[in-house]
Amino acid sequence: MATGSNRKTKQRDALVSVLERAERPLSVAELLEAASKRIEGLGVATVYRAVGALLDDGRIDAVEIPGEPTRYERSDKGHHHHFQCEKCDRVFDIAGCLDNLRKLVPPKFRVKQHSVMLYGVCATCSR
Ligand SMILES: [Zn+2]
Ligand SMILES: [Zn+2]
Repeated sequence: MATGSNRKTKQRDALVSVLERAERPLSVAELLEAASKRIEGLGVATVYRAVGALLDDGRIDAVEIPGEPTRYERSDKGHHHHFQCEKCDRVFDIAGCLDNLRKLVPPKFRVKQHSVMLYGVCATCSR
């Protein structure tokens, strides 16, 4: 089964490199569209399986957005947040974080984690 697993490895590497080139989180549908140009005969079930394996390996992270299909991104990006365009639905990375989150909570509350999601219109759609 060496050729089978070899093909799987190739498919996974191709999906990771698609995510690297995209520089923004992609849904399974977006991944499939982008990767099928490079991998012949790629189907949605294969993408789901590869995404599951890449999550298990820690090579990619899931980006959960309420009411939206999960997006996936490389796991080595460091702390950042996301922006979703309300016209094209694409999700983009935004660098950095908000300052002084601790000041938003009452005294003696401890903030342990946070999530920040910005919504608006991307540069392409605002033209
Ligand atoms: Zn847009
Ligand atoms: Zn943050």
